[in-house]
Amino acid sequence: MIFLKKLFSKLKFKIGKNSQSKYLQESIINDLPNYYIFWKDLNSVYLGCNKAFATLANVGSPENIVGKNDYDLPWTKEYSDKFRSDDKEVMESGKPKLNIEEPHKLKNGEIVVLLTSKIPLINNNKVFGVFGICCNVTDQKVEETAVRETNIKLEHAYQEAQQLQSSIINYLPNYFIFWKDINGKYLGCNTAFARLAGQNSPSDLIGKCDYDYWSKEESDAYVADDKEVMRIGKPKLDIEEPQTTAQGEKIILSTSKVPLIDEKGKVYGLVGICSNITHQKEAEQNLLKTNKKLEEAYKAKSEFIRNVSHDIRTPLSGIMQSSRFIYERGIEEEEIPEYAYHIWQAAIKLMSLFNQVIEVTKTEAYEFEDQTSKFDLYKLLDNLRKTYTIVAKHKGIELKLEYSNEVPRYLLGKPLRLHRILMNLLGNAFKFTQKGSIILYIEDAQNSTDDQIILRFTVTDTGIGIPKEKHTVIFEPFERLQYSYQGLYPGSGLGLSLVKSYIEKMQGEIYVESEIDKGSKFTCLIPFKRPILNNDKDILDIEYEIEQQILHKDIPLFTTSTKISDTKEQKTKNILLVEDDELARKMGSRILSNIPLYQVDSATSGEQALEMTNQKLYQLIYMDVGLPGIDGIETVKQIRTNPLNINHKTYIVALTAHADEEIIQQCLDVGMQEVLQKPLTPEKAYKLNNALPLEKKEEIVNDNNLLDWPLWFSRVGNDKETAYMTFHIFATDLESYQKNITASIKEKDLTKLQAITHKMKGALGYCGLPRLENIIKKVESSAKEQDFDKILEEYSELLETLEKTKQIYQEWSKMYPKTE
Ligand code: ADP
Repeated sequence: MIFLKKLFSKLKFKIGKNSQSKYLQESIINDLPNYYIFWKDLNSVYLGCNKAFATLANVGSPENIVGKNDYDLPWTKEYSDKFRSDDKEVMESGKPKLNIEEPHKLKNGEIVVLLTSKIPLINNNKVFGVFGICCNVTDQKVEETAVRETNIKLEHAYQEAQQLQSSIINYLPNYFIFWKDINGKYLGCNTAFARLAGQNSPSDLIGKCDYDYWSKEESDAYVADDKEVMRIGKPKLDIEEPQTTAQGEKIILSTSKVPLIDEKGKVYGLVGICSNITHQKEAEQNLLKTNKKLEEAYKAKSEFIRNVSHDIRTPLSGIMQSSRFIYERGIEEEEIPEYAYHIWQAAIKLMSLFNQVIEVTKTEAYEFEDQTSKFDLYKLLDNLRKTYTIVAKHKGIELKLEYSNEVPRYLLGKPLRLHRILMNLLGNAFKFTQKGSIILYIEDAQNSTDDQIILRFTVTDTGIGIPKEKHTVIFEPFERLQYSYQGLYPGSGLGLSLVKSYIEKMQGEIYVESEIDKGSKFTCLIPFKRPILNNDKDILDIEYEIEQQILHKDIPLFTTSTKISDTKEQKTKNILLVEDDELARKMGSRILSNIPLYQVDSATSGEQALEMTNQKLYQLIYMDVGLPGIDGIETVKQIRTNPLNINHKTYIVALTAHADEEIIQQCLDVGMQEVLQKPLTPEKAYKLNNALPLEKKEEIVNDNNLLDWPLWFSRVGNDKETAYMTFHIFATDLESYQKNITASIKEKDLTKLQAITHKMKGALGYCGLPRLENIIKKVESSAKEQDFDKILEEYSELLETLEKTKQIYQEWSKMYPKTE
């Protein structure tokens, strides 16, 4: 600018004089390459310019511009107007106008930005024109704009970042952020932290300290950490801080504190960020607990396996040794029963163990079937007494089963469960007691109501006792205090866990009191209902149910003395085994006798078999094919073809050593149902028994036979005498039945016919004469329908059947004459 002022002062003097003007033009003005210089008259007509301006104005050389105005030059009209008005302003005011930013849009579209200063040309205080000097700032402008735009963008971004940062800080729900001054006073915090302190907004905390919000103890700890961080000037990370929130909730925070340091390296406060790790901590704790439990369970399981292996191995080796002695005849004949007894006892032990294991998996998987029913508590006790008296005698221990007066005899509840609970507790008592007494006592646990009673059952023993710290674990599955592999007490460690689960299912409770070497007392409190009728009406047969459970379900045989009584209510099945070889006959008889309800007879020859099958009805016959005298095939042929043989429809199984196709075919041809390869084994016998129940086999009987003894027997209570008697009686009436039928048909009296056939049908219901029964039924229904033609058709069949029946009767009555 100084340079320009000097220039202008020079100009003031020298412009106007041609020689001077020329000098100016050539020497100064033209040589300023970056400056565009021009001067105009009062009418803004160019008087001259320098070379640079001439180039810009696209006029070639400076002299060409003289006489031209802006409208003649390459800039647009809009710009020319602006230049003209600036000129005017300067000339009218007589004052310079400096640094006007003038964009020149050239006609070729290019924009040039000029920074122009215009100065009035004055002579004798009169303005005579305008002088302009411009410099090209286009590049500079572009740069400036770019810089400005960038700055604006940066500003935006900065603001956004600021906003984002404050909202992140404020609304991060899981992070609590605060900053404090050197004295531990809050300078600020996020919303989450304010809430934690029980305040609405961060501004509430400013100027406050920890003691304003948290307990002394908690605050002391926070302040101590703050001080340490600010003193050392280093962050402290992941500090676990327990905290009671404003809402009273106990939580655990993980906090990191970082010192705030100014440019001079001086600490002026700290920033803290915490997260709530309560759940994480809980999960960690749970995981630890679960791991511990798993470890314990694993330990218990391995111990269980060791116990069980011992409990299996001991009876198993007993079985192996005893049976080997018997087999190798290493013992005297008289000793055999004793050894067999050992084997049996060992097998029962195995069974019991197996059942307990099954039972546990069962109680875990589904409900043990025990309906609520009315039962006799005294009977239940009797059953227990029967079971344990022998054991008590054997061990020389006193056994008492007692109850107080108010204990009712009849109860409504789950008797089988109760039975098992007491069996288990008594079983344990006996197992762990060597001398003294075992007492089961029952009393009313509390004032019972009219319809409900809670009974207290205590099982007290004078045995080895249980240490106090084990009073809970013994109820866990597989938990045992003495390992059976140590050889002292056998057991699976499952009994008490079963007892507990049964009691819980009955809404009861169980406790143990015990002292080492003094004894144990197990107490169960179990609620029952009182039945409305205090008598044995509709009562559950406990003895029977217990037997059934033992017989048919996989339930534990708790003691070896549990007796399986005769199955009196079930029908026995008569089985005949025909076999000539003595050993095979004895073995076969033994095998078959072991099948429940089988009553086995044997025959040594075909002849004997024929005799026996005439006398007694069998449900199943095993027939050896290769017999001396009449062979098996011939024997069966005779049985099948003689309608008078009671067993002519019995299910018959062939036994053969040579089951070739020809023999099989012969067997089937004579009417045997099955052919078995010898020898007869228990598996084969059981399989046959199970595949087709004998009741079903009886039904195989052809329903159109003239005489069907099995049917007859079954209709009269399986009593042979009654069956024979009814045959005699029916046969006596047969003549008169036949006469009456014939008469009513001749008279076409269908009502009478219907009456007779109806009566006859009734009598036939006690017989085994299926063919006659069938035709009589047909005639009766035709009579009812008054269908005379049909009756005539049926009449001949009826007559024929009557005749044949009479014939059979005559033959049969020769063998079994009527006894008066
Ligand atoms: P187990 O088949 O081993 O008898 P239980 O579940 O019935 O299994 O009992 C678990 C453990 O509790 C027993 O192994 C024994 O250590 C202890 N226990 C149970 N009853 C008695 C008792 N009457 N006297 C002493 N210890 C007992």
